Amino acid sequence: MTIAPNSIEARDIAYQMHPNVNLRTYEKSGGLVIESGDGIYVTDNNGKRYIEGLAGLWSVAVGFGEKRLAEVAKAQMEKLPYYHTFAYKTHGPSIELAEMLIKLAPVPMSKVHFTSSGSEANDLAAKMVWYRSNALGKPDKKKIIGRIYGYHGVTIAAGSITGLPRNHQSFDLPLDRMVHTSCPSYVHFGKDGESEADFTKRMLGDLEELIQREGPETIAAFWGEPVMGAGGVLVPPAGYWEGVQEILRKHDILLVVDEVICGFGRTGKMFACETYNIKPDVLVLSKQISSSYLPLSAILMNDNFYQPIADESDRIGSFGHGYTASGHPVATAVGLENLKIIQERDLVGNAAQLEEKFLARLKALAEHPVAHSSRGVGLLGALEIKPFADGKPGDAALAVAAALQEEGVICRAVMEAVCFCPPLIITAEQIDDMFDALGRALDTVAAKRA
Ligand code: PLP
Repeated sequence: MTIAPNSIEARDIAYQMHPNVNLRTYEKSGGLVIESGDGIYVTDNNGKRYIEGLAGLWSVAVGFGEKRLAEVAKAQMEKLPYYHTFAYKTHGPSIELAEMLIKLAPVPMSKVHFTSSGSEANDLAAKMVWYRSNALGKPDKKKIIGRIYGYHGVTIAAGSITGLPRNHQSFDLPLDRMVHTSCPSYVHFGKDGESEADFTKRMLGDLEELIQREGPETIAAFWGEPVMGAGGVLVPPAGYWEGVQEILRKHDILLVVDEVICGFGRTGKMFACETYNIKPDVLVLSKQISSSYLPLSAILMNDNFYQPIADESDRIGSFGHGYTASGHPVATAVGLENLKIIQERDLVGNAAQLEEKFLARLKALAEHPVAHSSRGVGLLGALEIKPFADGKPGDAALAVAAALQEEGVICRAVMEAVCFCPPLIITAEQIDDMFDALGRALDTVAAKRA
């Protein structure tokens, strides 16, 4: 792409430093300028329309043109554009959303604490775990177990629980309180001839071994996404979550479940905890909570987690944490309306109903000579691409994603896979459109490599 002087692309390069890019490449390539959105589509500044196959960043459940959210935001801005939840103050939207979340929660929860991003929520949940251990007189019980390829954000504690090298390298992470156990992706880490059941057993054995090596009395919590998203849509093998929970219970280790991607219908149930029968002590939510129309995240905690923290705040005199935007009234009002839309339109049911078609289309595409295999649950899926024999890791998936963008579909290339997580409002016909385009993109890549 040639970039004209003073064009919007040139000004972007001149003034903005972007996240998650090679900054030197960006200085030359610039980015795709998205100007508007409607339903499952976004449109660029040249008028080209794309299916947003990743719902933005795995987040825009209700689609890009939901007027009700704009109207609620406007009304809340006019009534009370900002107030905080510090220092014995509160406001209606945060109270209403907290109540709704407690009622929706997949297990009995006691309290909700609002933050503005998935990273902030996980970071604070880690701080709360430490605060709680101190409250319980267990100052040595502080370590947190994350998983290789797990993603929990990029702030210092959350980024340390994340198990992706690129989020650690040169940032002096992870903190040494964070340790990582094996990634339970059978398709990537199953050994030749190893059954899925044996793989699960090995993953659980690795976890037990790590706990023994570190000392069970030093470990406070285990963190996991029910399905790893940013690691490449890595679906857990059968029996994994049952086994993990048994081990954690045995060693008195808390379970923090990060449903930042999975929450609010992505797996065909309101929460993936229901899909996989997971009973968390702490549940971290974001993204689809507000369809990302405004930044919002939430930490839900059970009473066993909350009570020692409340006691400690009483001993010290205050819970010494909070953000200016914690429970922001416009964000929580939008979150509340967004969840009402998800319920009224039964978008969770839509995901459950379309799961079969969504996964069947991906599975059929896995037969393409360029592809390797497919995986997914609900409306979250990935197609693994065969690596180029003469390329760098990830080149083949990037080539497919680029060809697909030409075809008018945005997806996300992660490692050797292309990932899909469309808005929950997608229809069966639109799934066909998206995957017909993927078929053509695979053909293009195959033709270029022939
Ligand atoms: N946790 C999970 C599972 C995520 O997928 C993400 C972001 O993709 C985060 C946490 C971090 O959220 P944020 O980017 O809002 O900080």
